[in-house]
Amino acid sequence: VKQAKQTGRIELFQAREVNAVRRRFSLETELRRAIENDRLTLAYQPLIDLRTGAVSGFEALARWHDPQRGPIEPGEFIPVAEESGLILPLGRWAIEAAARTLVAWDRTAGRKLPVQVCVNLSAVQIQRDDVSATVEAVQAAHDVAGRMKLELTESCIVADPERAVRVLHALQEQDVRIAIDDFGTGYSSLAYLQKLPIDELKIDRSFITPMLRDRDSLAIVRAVLSLAAALGMSTTAEGVETVELGQTLGALGCTRGQGWYYARPLTPEAAYAYWLARRHNS
Ligand code: C2E
Ligand code: MG
Ligand code: MG
Ligand code: MG
Repeated sequence: VKQAKQTGRIELFQAREVNAVRRRFSLETELRRAIENDRLTLAYQPLIDLRTGAVSGFEALARWHDPQRGPIEPGEFIPVAEESGLILPLGRWAIEAAARTLVAWDRTAGRKLPVQVCVNLSAVQIQRDDVSATVEAVQAAHDVAGRMKLELTESCIVADPERAVRVLHALQEQDVRIAIDDFGTGYSSLAYLQKLPIDELKIDRSFITPMLRDRDSLAIVRAVLSLAAALGMSTTAEGVETVELGQTLGALGCTRGQGWYYARPLTPEAAYAYWLARRHNS
């Protein structure tokens, strides 16, 4: 009986595994097709200068709307892309598409928008792709020099620090700015902050959300702000959902705020309109 029960359990477990593997495999197949057919889009979330209220940049966030499945969260498809290697074409596409959008805005405005466009990078791209070559090609095709920023998580550096040092220095030479995303949630050593050409720390939402009611979170936010200031880096607070958070962060000297209080990630057209409505602040 015990034997049978265990076999049953194993079969149930296997059935569940098989379903998960199947969903993942079909997601991978569909993602590959979506990339090939240019069906991914980027949404642009404004980054607000907390001193002036101006839009000083946009973060480009990948979006996938499958005709059958509907919208699929980046939290689901980015890991699939990372594990399958599809993040390499996806990542190259994102850098190119963000640059294309920026020059489209320039054309509409009749001048160069004084904003930064920030694109996320995965560790796999640092390890296995030539990001610097992608940037070079994109900069040759689009007039975006000095206005691109790449967001890396601490894991991008930790995975292969020597390679990360080389890649980041090459990017710095190309006038690309570097931000550390989700700062405080990873395992980077402080030595790398000093050694690497990092322009900005993005303070993770998990510290920002509770900071007005939780003293420890507030202490961490303050510490990151003073660390960044001491190292000559700017700061962006992620997940600013209320006016109080924005005001407090501004008073504490945080450079920029990003979050639903200001705007959700927007279509390129809506993002441009958002910039236009606030351009008098810059
Ligand atoms: P992230 O880079 O940390 O991006 C910030 C996430 O917070 C975004 O989620 C954004 O929509 C969300 N967010 C912004 N403001 C608020 C707020 O006020 N409240 C709350 N609750 N959330 C807010 P999203 O768009 O779902 O993206 C999730 C993650 O997927 C990103 O986190 C990033 O790590 C990854 N990702 C997105 N696009 C790309 C891409 O093109 N390449 C790579 N490698 N990763 C990407
Ligand atoms: Mg990011
Ligand atoms: Mg982040
Ligand atoms: Mg994040």
